[in-house]
Order: sequence, then structure tokens, then C-alpha cells
Amino acid sequence: MTLFPHKFLPRSLSGRVFAMFGLCMLVFLLFGLGMFYRYQFSQRLADTDQAANTIADITAQAIAHESLEGDATRVEQVMHLALAGSPLKSAAFRGPHGMTVLAAPPAKGPGAPAWLVHAIDRRMPDVVRKVEAGGQSIGVLGLAIDAAAIAAQLWDVAVQTAALVAAFALACYLLMRSTLRRWLANLQRLQHFENEVSAGEVTAEAPLLDDAPVEIQDAIHAINRTTASLRNQYGERIAHLMHTLLEHKRAMDQVASMCEVDKLGRIVDANEQFVRCCGIAREALAGMELATIGRPANASGLPWVPSPLVWTGEVTVSGAQGETQWFRTVVPILGADKAVEKYICIDIDITARKDFEQAILDNARRQTLIAALGQKALHASMLDELFAQAAATAAQGLNTRFAVLLEADTERNVAIARAVAGWPSQMNGTVYDCQAAVRTQGQPGLLPWSAPLRASSVVGCGLDVAIFRGTRLFGAIGVYDIGERTFTPVETDFLKSIATLVATALERHEAKSRLTFLDQYDQLTSLPNRRRLTRFLDDSIARAKSRADSCAVLLIDLDRFKDVNDTLGHTAGDELLVQAARRLLDCVRAGDVVGRLGGDEFAVVLPAAAQRRESRAVAAAIVESLGRPYRVQGQQVYATASVGIATWPGDGEAAEALIRNADNAMYSAKKAGRNTHSFYMPVMNEDATRRLRTEAELREALRREEFVLHYQPKVSLATGKLAGFEALLRWQHPVRGLVPPLEFIGILEDTGIIIPVGEWIIGQVCRQLLLWEREGAAPVPVAINLSARQFQQADLAQVIERIVGASGANPQLLEFELTESLLMADPESAAATLAAIKRLGMHLSIDDFGTGYSSLAYLKRFPLDTLKIDRAFVRDLPEDGDDAAITQAVISLAHHLSLKVVAEGVETLEQARTLHGYACDQIQGYYASRPLPAAECTALLARGQLIDRALLAAPPMRLVASDEAGHGAADGSAAAA
Ligand code: C2E
Ligand code: CA
Repeated sequence: MTLFPHKFLPRSLSGRVFAMFGLCMLVFLLFGLGMFYRYQFSQRLADTDQAANTIADITAQAIAHESLEGDATRVEQVMHLALAGSPLKSAAFRGPHGMTVLAAPPAKGPGAPAWLVHAIDRRMPDVVRKVEAGGQSIGVLGLAIDAAAIAAQLWDVAVQTAALVAAFALACYLLMRSTLRRWLANLQRLQHFENEVSAGEVTAEAPLLDDAPVEIQDAIHAINRTTASLRNQYGERIAHLMHTLLEHKRAMDQVASMCEVDKLGRIVDANEQFVRCCGIAREALAGMELATIGRPANASGLPWVPSPLVWTGEVTVSGAQGETQWFRTVVPILGADKAVEKYICIDIDITARKDFEQAILDNARRQTLIAALGQKALHASMLDELFAQAAATAAQGLNTRFAVLLEADTERNVAIARAVAGWPSQMNGTVYDCQAAVRTQGQPGLLPWSAPLRASSVVGCGLDVAIFRGTRLFGAIGVYDIGERTFTPVETDFLKSIATLVATALERHEAKSRLTFLDQYDQLTSLPNRRRLTRFLDDSIARAKSRADSCAVLLIDLDRFKDVNDTLGHTAGDELLVQAARRLLDCVRAGDVVGRLGGDEFAVVLPAAAQRRESRAVAAAIVESLGRPYRVQGQQVYATASVGIATWPGDGEAAEALIRNADNAMYSAKKAGRNTHSFYMPVMNEDATRRLRTEAELREALRREEFVLHYQPKVSLATGKLAGFEALLRWQHPVRGLVPPLEFIGILEDTGIIIPVGEWIIGQVCRQLLLWEREGAAPVPVAINLSARQFQQADLAQVIERIVGASGANPQLLEFELTESLLMADPESAAATLAAIKRLGMHLSIDDFGTGYSSLAYLKRFPLDTLKIDRAFVRDLPEDGDDAAITQAVISLAHHLSLKVVAEGVETLEQARTLHGYACDQIQGYYASRPLPAAECTALLARGQLIDRALLAAPPMRLVASDEAGHGAADGSAAAA
């Protein structure tokens, strides 16, 4: 807040100094004068009062005498005397005897303002005195003060003093004014200084007078210093600016082509870049019209013409570096008269940007083409259409004259043109021999497959990529052109994308065909599968119905195919199936259909088999054909077939029923001894139903504890003593009674129930061994039969170890019997499993020896202890010379391999003796004993001796155990003899 509102302040500094100074002076003078006047006023009044009293006293004495005498005139004279020269105005005396005297000299004119007179009058009352004579009051004297006279005197003094002071102040003012002006003149010079600076006098300094006040000197010095500093700073800035400008120009020269053009549009000068880009010598350039250097990039664009306006546009310049794209700006430079003096042309290289834009456009176009091809690839059912579009897409996308899609036949080394673009369509299907090209691998970047095609046409350049269907080479797709051209990686990728699309479509197509095939045909034999065959049979039934005709279905099953599979392996099995399929096809007429239902089951539909004998003829032909030996993996293999026949009408209404009944008929053919055919009869259906029921019952049998083990003794021929038992499974059926294993073992195997049942058998044998041990019997080994299904268990040895270990039975007393075919199915892993079981301390024997295909080499490698000669070789001993020879040979071979020999199915003493003669170790069979329940075996164990040794050497007379072993007579065995 300022003391004074500035609108009341003078504008100049001097004005303000004077104003302030004047104001202070005025206040000071007024105050001084006031004090002075006040003093004068009081002093004057005091003096007047004193004088008036003195005059009153004197006058009262003087007139006391006169009044006594009553001389009024004298009194009046005295009174006039007193008034003269006094500050009194008038005097009045009232004396004795009514004497009244008044003296009042004439008043002078007013000399002071009325307020002053009035003020004095108020302060100065009249003076009254008693006039006494002799102590007696004789009258009263009154004197009136002359206020006007006093005021006039005081006023005079005031006026004079004021005039004096005013004169003094004026003098001071003038003095100060002149000195101040001189001092402030320094500041006024700053104005000049400013003007000089504005006029560009950059070296100017503000001038200074010697007598300038210190503050002003300091201020001007500061200004001069600031100016000098600014001068320096701006100097540096400008230098920097100039430097930057130069740099800028240099940079511009690098990136931009620039030239100077005169007002007529002719080039005057150009930078290096410009010269380089347009490829014209600098000398030749001078004088050329700018418009001739570069044509408008856009076909509709106009070239530059001299004009006072800034011109911009895109131009294409053909120079030493080929065609380049430029963004041109031509800026007119105007003179003082606003007329064009010259032009500066600046060209910025936009070739890369333009190329990039073009690449994006090309890419987008190719993407569209690829998308369209992708659509086609997804939906095209005809590959040729797709190939044609692929070739067209390649040519279009890569802007080439020709394109081709070749299929390569790597075996024949030929390439087949599957689709062409640019070339005449007759070229489709042309086969090119690529032998030479494939050998030499053709040109780099081009596949050998396209070499003959390229050679046969005018092709200068090209690009092709291989098409793979999965991992197999399908062929190639290629684009070719007449002139020279290199293909960018992006273009290569485009062609690869097309190849990938084609490959995907090929795979899809193949997968689709494959699916259709898998759905309808058997993979191995390529015959119709069950689904297709069933449909065909249904159609045949429908046709037969409509024509009142008949049709038949033959169901064919290879006998003992499982043995081939187990013995020679699955590959051999497959080979056999393929051969069988071929033979089946040879057995039927055109119009008949052969199919594979699965495994070793085939079916033949005879759509028009009016006569039963026709079906029979075909069935017989099939049995005959399939029964001929096969050559599989260099070996002769024998197999036979069983055929079941079902006919419509009669054996079923629909295909399913007909096939089922043909199956039943086939089972009955098998039952009838295999290698034959059988017509369906309703009773067969009952057999099949029974089988199904048995299967259901077997699933429950283990839980219901319906299984039991019988034990058949083995007898040592050397001593006639009990040498061991074979555990044989029996099913104690609640209704059917004791069911022999051949009726259910197969079903147990087929259904897999054999696994838990097999484990139960091992456990049960162990328990029996411990029981016999507790009963005090001498321990003998017990053999357990292992089925193929059990033997396939990877952890069989561990399972056995667990069960035997848990029971606490002596492993040495356990023996496992395995059939030849079971061991030969996979001899390597069989050897491993056998070794594992052997390590547990158990014995191993090969069962039914002679019925399967044993490899003697393997026999040696299996850790076997015993060989059991099959019943078939024993049955006709000693009459059958062949069997006798085989048995002898087998015994001798086994002994060579350090194997003990057990002959199975020994029913007569004759056979026992013969075997004894052959040095067979043990016999097993009805002659010694039928399989017995465990309880009955206890007695045999106690007795030990089963056959009299003498009997074996001498003619048969008696058997030791005949009378005790009640079974012997009942079974009609040799023991009863
Ligand atoms: P296999 O292993 O050859 O068993 C011997 C078969 O011959 C037994 O028939 C037995 O009763 C019979 N047999 C014994 N001596 C004579 C004889 O002098 N003359 C005649 N004709 N036969 C005799 P079974 O008990 O009916 O067993 C048949 C087949 O069932 C066995 O043949 C075996 O392969 C299988 N089997 C029996 N029990 C089991 C078992 O517990 N497990 C497994 N996996 N298979 C078993
Ligand atoms: Ca056996």
C-alpha cells in the first residue's frame, strides 16, 4: 500500500521530490508560524491586560480627587488622558451625586479580520475599578479594551511574517529544482543510450556526468554491465546458430538432393546428392530445366513450372541408381520487390517408403489370393481343380508368366504336370523324364523335377518349391518367367504357403479317403469289413426278397490259426491271412463278395445262391483251397478252414441273424473235426446259447468256490514209485456235475477269467502241499498247467513268487507245464520268463511235446527240466512203427539235453513196458491212475509204490495198487486189469 495514491503523484521523479519536500516544508512552516502566532497572541493579551489594570488604578486615583470636587470636566480630561496611547477603547465613570462621565475617542478603521477582533474581545473583559477617597467608595470606573486595535496590530505581524516565510520557501524551491534537474539529467541520457542500442550501436555505453549522485552512477554502471553481458551472450548464441545452420545444410546435402534454379526454371547449381541421383554431370546439369529432371510419379500429375507459390509433388528420377522416387519441394525465393529471384528445389528420397508401400500392397493381394486358395483347399473334392487354382494363384501372386504344379514319381524319376498356368492346358498330364536332372540336381534354387519342363520352354528365371504329403515328396510348384528376375524371400514364402496349402489339402484328401476305406474295408486284406459286408448282405436279402430268390452267407474260420500266430509270430499270421483272402477271392464268382469279419474269420456272400448245392460247392472249394499248404516267411505252413453256411430264406431274416447262424454252423463244422463245412440247423443255435450261459456261470464259479483240483500221479518207470502229480482243474457245476476242463478252459482263456482262476490254482496247490506235509506224507512235486494267457502276463514270475511266498510252500515241489506253441510264440521273452520262474527254485516242463512246432535250437536255450511226450505218440505204441521211432528219438533227444521224459496218456501195461524199454523216465496215464481228488491222493502218497517193477520187465500180470485204488476198476484203467 502506497502512502499516496499514485494518481495524485507527479509523474517525474523531480516533481515527486519537490512535492514531498514542499509538503514537508509547508507543514513545518505552518506549524512554526502557528506556534509563533499563538505566542504573540497570548503575550499581547497579557501585556494589554496588565496595562489596562495599571491604567485603571492610576485613573481611579486621579479621578477620585477630581470627582470629589465634582469637576466632571476634569474627570473627563483625566479619562481622555488615560485612554490616549492605551489599548483601551473607552472609559466611563459613575460618581457621587449622579455624576456620569464618558470618554470615548473616535475609533480607527478596522485593520484586522472580524473573527480575530471577536476572539480578542472575548478574551479581554472590561476593567472595572472602585474609586475610593478616604477609604470611601465614591464611584465606579469602567474601562473598555480596544480589541480592534489589538487585532490590527497582531494581524500586521502575522501578514508580515507569512510574507517573509513564503519568500524563503520560494527561494529554497528554486535552488533545489535547479540542482535536482542537473542530477537527473544523467537518467535522461539513458534515453539516448536506449535509442543508440535500438539503432544497433551495440558497443554504446550509457554516458555519466561526474557529479551524478552515487545511486545513479551505480544504476548506470549496472546497466552498462548488463548490456555488455547481453552483448556477449547474444554473440555466442548467434555463433552457435550459424554453426547449427551450417550443420543443417551439410545434413540436408546428405539426405536431400538440392539445387538452385533461376527464375526461368533452369538449374544454376546443385549439391552432390542431386548430381549423383540424376546421373548427369554437374557441368551438363547447369542450364537444364528442372522440369526435365524427374517425371511426375503419378501418371496424372503435372510437372513443376516456375511460379511464385511453393510447389510439392512426387517425382520419379531415372539415374545412375535406376529409378528412384523423390518427394520434391520447390520454394521460390522472393526479392525485396516481392518478385521471384530464384527457386530452391529440395528432393527427399522416398524410394524405400514407396517400395515398402508397394510391398504391403503386394502382400495384401497375395494374402487375398492365399485366402481364396485356402477356401478352395478346404472344400475342393477334386484335386485337379485345386491344382489348377494353385498354379494360377502362384503366377498371379508373383506376377510371372508361367506356373506349374508337378507330381513327382520318385521311383520312375518322372514328373507329371498336374496343372499349368500361362502354358497351353494341353500340357496337363505331360510326363517329363527327370533321370538326368535328378542326378545332377539341376540349378541351385530350382528343383530337379522342373528341369525338363523348363528346358522344353523359353524360361529365363524361375522359383519352385517342393510339396510334401506328410514326409513323402508329392511334387513341386513353380513359377517361371522369360527375362531375368530374382525372387525375394517374401515371394519365396508366398510360394511355400501355396505348397503348404496344397500339401494340407492332399493330406486331407488322403485322410478322407483313408477314413472311408477304414470305415468300409479291412486294412490288412483290403476286403470289405463286417460293416460293409453286412450292408451288402442286407441288400442281397432285399433283392432276393423282391425276386423270390435266395441268397447265402458262408462264414469261414481258419482252424488253429492261433497256433500259427503263436508259433511264427503275428507278421507270419498276417501273411497267412492275406494269402487266405486271395484264395477266397479265387473261389467265388463275379458278383459274390468276400469280406473279413475280424481275426481269422472271413465271410462270403453269395447274392444269388438259389440252390443249396451251389453254396455247398463254393464251401467245398473254399475248404479245399484254404487247406492247401501256405508258404509263409520261407516256411511251409499248414492250415485248414471250417465253413458255416446260412441261407435266406430260412436261416434268419436280416444280415445280422444270418451271419450269427452261419457262425453257429461254422462252430459245428469245427466240432465235427474241422476242415469241413456245415449248414446251419436250428439246434446249433442252442449250442451257442449254452456256450454263452457257460461263460456267464464261469464268471461266478470262482466266487462260488465251484472249482476243484484233481491230481494225476506220475510214476517212475525205474522204480514203479509215485514220482509226482499233475494238478488238473475241474468245475463242480451245481447242475451239470463235474465238468472236464476241455469244456471250459477255452472259455476261461477267451474271457480272461483264467488269470484269477490260474492264481487260485497255484495257491490251492501250495495249500495242498502243506496239508500233505502236515499229514506226514513224503513230499512229491506237483505240476501246474499254465495257459498262454497267463504266460503273457509280464509279471508272471512275481505273481507266482507272491502266491507261493505267502503260502509258505516249498518252491522246489512246484513244477509248471507249458505247451510248445506257447513257448514258441515269442521265444525271447518266454526264455526270460522261464528264467525268472526258474530263479524262484521251481521246475519247468514242456507239455504235449510233438504237437506244435518246436525249434530245437530254442529248446536248448529254455531252462527246462522235463519234456512230456504227447498222448498222440503213445496211443498206438508199440504197434505203430512211426510213433515208436518218434518216441524213441524224442526220448534220446531229451536225454541229450539233460531233460527228464514223461510219457502222457499211458493206458496199458504194454505201453508202459515199451516206454520202459525206450528208457523213458516217467509215465502218466490211466494205466497208473486217473486224476484223483486230493483226499484220495493221500493214500497213494502213503503207499509210494504204484507199479510193481517186475511187471515192467515181465509180461503184464498184476498191478500193485489194483485192489486199494478203487478208482482203477471204476475207470476201467490198466490198474483194474
Ligand atoms: P493236459 O495238460 O495234456 O493234461 C492231461 C490230460 O490228459 C488230462 O485231461 C488227463 O485227464 C488226460 N489223461 C491223462 N491220462 C490219460 C490217459 O491215459 N488217456 C487219456 N485219453 N487221457 C488221459 P483233462 O484233465 O481233461 O485236461 C485237459 C486239458 O485241460 C489239459 O491237458 C490241460 O491242457 C488243460 N488243463 C487241465 N487242468 C488245467 C489247469 O489247471 N490249468 C490249465 N491251464 N489247463 C488245464
Ligand atoms: Ca499237462
